[in-house]
Amino acid sequence: MPKLTSPSPKEWSHNIVKEEEFTKYLSEGRDFINEDEIETLLEENRHPDPKKLREILAKSLNLERLETHETAALLNVEDEELWEEMFATAGEVKRRVYGDRIVTFAPLYCSNYCINNCLYCGFRRDNYLQKRRRLTIEEVRREIEVLVSLGHKRLIMVYGEHPLSDVDYIVQTIQTAYETKVGNGEIRRVNVNAAPLDIARFKMLKEVGIGTFQVFQETYHHKTYRRLHPTGIKSHYRWRLYALHRAQEAGIDDVAIGALFGLYDWKFEVMGLLYHTIDLEKHFGGVGPHTISFPRLEPAVNTPFVQETKYKVQDRDFKRLVTVIRLSVPYTGMIITAREPAHIRKEVIPVGCTQTDASTRIGIGAYSDRYNEQELERQQFQIGDPRSLEEVVQELAHMGYITSFCTADYRCGRTGKHFMDITKKGKIHHFCMPNAILTFKEYLLDYAQEATRKIGEQVIQQKFEKLDDRLKPIVKEYLQRIENGERDLRI
Ligand code: SAM
Ligand code: SF4
Repeated sequence: MPKLTSPSPKEWSHNIVKEEEFTKYLSEGRDFINEDEIETLLEENRHPDPKKLREILAKSLNLERLETHETAALLNVEDEELWEEMFATAGEVKRRVYGDRIVTFAPLYCSNYCINNCLYCGFRRDNYLQKRRRLTIEEVRREIEVLVSLGHKRLIMVYGEHPLSDVDYIVQTIQTAYETKVGNGEIRRVNVNAAPLDIARFKMLKEVGIGTFQVFQETYHHKTYRRLHPTGIKSHYRWRLYALHRAQEAGIDDVAIGALFGLYDWKFEVMGLLYHTIDLEKHFGGVGPHTISFPRLEPAVNTPFVQETKYKVQDRDFKRLVTVIRLSVPYTGMIITAREPAHIRKEVIPVGCTQTDASTRIGIGAYSDRYNEQELERQQFQIGDPRSLEEVVQELAHMGYITSFCTADYRCGRTGKHFMDITKKGKIHHFCMPNAILTFKEYLLDYAQEATRKIGEQVIQQKFEKLDDRLKPIVKEYLQRIENGERDLRI
């Protein structure tokens, strides 16, 4: 066990929350989640008229963000045929904005020390069965070498909230990720999922070149939030709620929100995600979340809350909630993770997901230590889909999707407002599909086996044919240059 750094967790916690960094966003002392208003909207739109509903779908197809009463109406649909129409429309919205393309990444869990006590999480402080570990920088490097050797270009690095994984450690681990090279491979974008920081610390992450900063509110329902986060910094609802406002202020303009489904009523949480989106857009010139996540609660060692919750989301409702998020915020990326088993991912990706992880291991040190063993006592929860990157790539190819390893938006400055402006006009795929093709070609040449290459080349051909005629000559030239050994070519 590493020696605890000074200050102690207790002293350290005292200096984290800075009231002045979020009170300015309150309106008459209130935050943007008003339970009564959300419940009234859900009640008033209980029996949506099909004609009105189709008008809402037309608005989504036009890539306009929905208003809260419109999302409430969608959430209340009960007719199976209308749902089928909504699934189809959500799929069409996704195709219009993003094309048949799924961006892939791997999570890298660096430390499971945590001062908080979230009742649903295996890492919570009082879980004495959790085996604690913080990776050394050398161990981080070894993990990254494994991930790069599999073909990954994009990571999300994950940390518990603790002085041992404070901002200095996060900065060092990100630097290590960017420095590590194996053959032609390297990590080109590091996203982070960590506890909310203050503005000064967010600026440090901006400087080291992070992609997206991700914070899940877990539940937007104040009372439930208080009950599930009894102690630690995380018990402060508003410090967390405005985390991404602070990140934006610090210059991190790709921010990611999420709710952990299973803690409270799923319809309320979808409304919470929409309110969060609207508030970010309001304060930051129309720039809402870069991505939205909708993890479902999974079992974790010695964590009885997961079995006891009465809000567990059934598969049928899961597909519906993903659909409503897609329709409500047509231009935002949506992430489905390996928490979900393979068959659910296959069913839900077509209604609007844009990103997914693969080859996922979430035990601390699990990529380099014992890749094929799942050590539950070192994990936050149990994953549902341990398939390799290659298996996921193959399945997506059979579904007609190209797996994108592209990180060009962020490295070409297409983030924040610039990204949103292009995406809202439905034009991001003019950049993304060519870059998906180019990075997929690299993957096929450098990492894939024969069978994957074969189906992969067919998908490249299909997507190439559909490109704008003006793009084809340049993509063709770049594909040839990649065949000849060049790497990291992008539009
Ligand atoms: N400690 C940081 C925090 O809480 O913000 C980092 C994030 S935590 C390691 C990543 C996310 O995992 C949490 O925000 C939560 O939504 C999710 N999570 C926690 N327990 C889970 C469980 N039992 N099943 C599924 N997801 C879980
Ligand atoms: Fe700690 Fe995050 Fe787990 Fe809560 S969800 S116990 S803050 S790691």
